[in-house]
Amino acid sequence: MKYPQLFTSIAGLALGAFVSMASADPTPAPAADKTPAAGFEQHGPHEHGTGKLSIAQDGGKLELDLDSPGMNLFGFEYMPKTDADKKTVADAEAKLKDGAALFVFDEDAGCQQTDAKVTTAQEKPDADEAEHDKGEVHSDVEASWAFTCAKPEALQTVTTKLFSTFSGFHKLNAEWVTDKGASSATLEKDDSIKLAP
Ligand SMILES: [Zn+2]
Repeated sequence: MKYPQLFTSIAGLALGAFVSMASADPTPAPAADKTPAAGFEQHGPHEHGTGKLSIAQDGGKLELDLDSPGMNLFGFEYMPKTDADKKTVADAEAKLKDGAALFVFDEDAGCQQTDAKVTTAQEKPDADEAEHDKGEVHSDVEASWAFTCAKPEALQTVTTKLFSTFSGFHKLNAEWVTDKGASSATLEKDDSIKLAP
């Protein structure tokens, strides 16, 4: 199994990802009527248009992780029904896996993508969530990319192409940890993130 299948990962594959993103403490399973998958990790309500990007560089290893509402990537969050829906999801997934097209690094650093994963989890928000209509289905997508960099000391910037690739992106909260330090930035369009001070 290389890549988890879209929309079938509520109980298993997405769980680990969301647990690690949200909190180390396991929270109780949601009530049975919220989702058929017992043990599905609840996490905070997402905001359509906003995504979170984490960048971690350690020596020659570079990992990027994107957490995004499905809306940003597919334009909808329901279970794909029609062939057109399914094609939209498949196309978005293919674009997501091509990390080299979504992120541009300093050429001198010699970074090559070695792996990419995309998981999508459906969820029904808590009834008291004000930001979403009650009972509406939402989906969260987590994508992660692994790169190896031949000359990591030359890695100064990461330039995003998420906004131009996916029209549903309006805001990206980026944070990074590298050999040179850690910081964060908020992007509202494709831009260069300066990893080095
Ligand atoms: Zn949503």
